[in-house]
Amino acid sequence: MSYNDKNIFAKILNGDAECVKVLENDFILAFMDVMPQAPGHTLVIPKYKTENLLNLDSNYFSPILEATQKIASSIKKVYSPTGVMVLQLNGAEAGQTVFHLHFHIIQRSEGLNYKFHSSEPRSFKELQKEADKIIANL
Ligand code: AMP
Repeated sequence: MSYNDKNIFAKILNGDAECVKVLENDFILAFMDVMPQAPGHTLVIPKYKTENLLNLDSNYFSPILEATQKIASSIKKVYSPTGVMVLQLNGAEAGQTVFHLHFHIIQRSEGLNYKFHSSEPRSFKELQKEADKIIANL
């Protein structure tokens, strides 16, 4: 499958759709997942047109990992989970639903009530509150 510019993350990158930003630089954009599996669920995407990890330009490897580590550390500080999951899906068969490469950062703790994948949309106002806490601890 070839990259489709009409996917929602492409629209976010070119300013045609809104998001709640957490971190941005020349290589990446990180923003709140609109249907979070847990509070603080953040996505990191490259500013590079690729559906998946397999076709990513290697110049983006380090910026993505740096941003992911920074955000995971912040999530640890904000929510004090026992674990933080970094998840990345390649292809519909793997569960991918948005076809612009993205890394999920999701806090995990025993007993935390997880939502199903892409199940409950949250308002931008609620997401902004979570983002503000994460940004303050980056
Ligand atoms: P995946 O199944 O790995 O492709 O995950 C796609 C993720 O994107 C899901 O967790 C969705 O909740 C999330 N998502 C879909 N649309 C948006 C959007 N407009 N803004 C933020 N997150 C989104």
